[in-house]
Amino acid sequence: MPTGGEIITIREALKKGTDMLEYVEIETPVLEAGVILSFVLGCDRAYIYSHGDKFIGENETNKFFALIEERSRGKPTQYITGFQEFMSLRFEVNQHVLIPRPETEILVEKIIEYVKENYTGRVNILDIGTGSGCISVSLAYYLPDSHITAVDISWEALEVAKRNAENAGVENRVKFIQSDLFSQLPLLQGNMKYDIIVSNPPYIPSLDLTSLQLEVRGYEPLKALDGGDDGLYFYRRIIKGSLDFLKPGGLLAFEVGYNQAQLVCDLMKECFSEVEIIKDLAKVDRVVTGKLKCM
Ligand code: GLN
Repeated sequence: MPTGGEIITIREALKKGTDMLEYVEIETPVLEAGVILSFVLGCDRAYIYSHGDKFIGENETNKFFALIEERSRGKPTQYITGFQEFMSLRFEVNQHVLIPRPETEILVEKIIEYVKENYTGRVNILDIGTGSGCISVSLAYYLPDSHITAVDISWEALEVAKRNAENAGVENRVKFIQSDLFSQLPLLQGNMKYDIIVSNPPYIPSLDLTSLQLEVRGYEPLKALDGGDDGLYFYRRIIKGSLDFLKPGGLLAFEVGYNQAQLVCDLMKECFSEVEIIKDLAKVDRVVTGKLKCM
């Protein structure tokens, strides 16, 4: 690391930052050093790659290397910059919310496609455990006739989600409620019930939490990850609750963890028809959907 007073160029900073991240075996050191430097300089990454010879100020240099050190100790880059892109939208994140994952886009895309094929007017969607609001806000953004209710047990997460709804300009169609799953939701009758319930619940089996990578177990909110003894605790509770809150024929859509798709299908089979598994881009079973049987 350069010592005080040394003046360095963008290229030199990037190189040293990259080396420091590489040394601690960060998988994408070039990319992350670039993201952190552009955050510090307040410019985009294209700028830093095309202005390698430009000198950067002492304060900025110090800040850059301080953040590179934080990253080296395990803090995810997204918590350093405060943002993650999801569904081509920019989401604010902090340590009260899980960082949105690309796999979750599969769940959102599935619902967008389903709504476009099956609905012409208003569609009411409930998102359980909204976290950063990435699912709710993206659905509201890409489905202009959708009205979303987003619940989370964490007040701090809802504060982040609300800002994300405002930033995407969809705050009028997303209602946020602090609730442990369905507990604070008003009971709805007949046509007032939801057309779709979606959730990416905590799904890591409790005993597996300690073996997650440092970035996840050391920094992301445990409450958003811990799925109980077998990882299926929230699926059971959400499936049960859906029987009261979903319209007959309505869609329940989950993201699922590694090796959970068939187990979640089995939990759904009694009360749901057309239960389907959808794979992600890595060909891993990632999403399970089904329609509430008309009883
Ligand atoms: N719904 C949020 C997401 O998909 C949060 C999920 C969670 O905290 N388990 O990222």
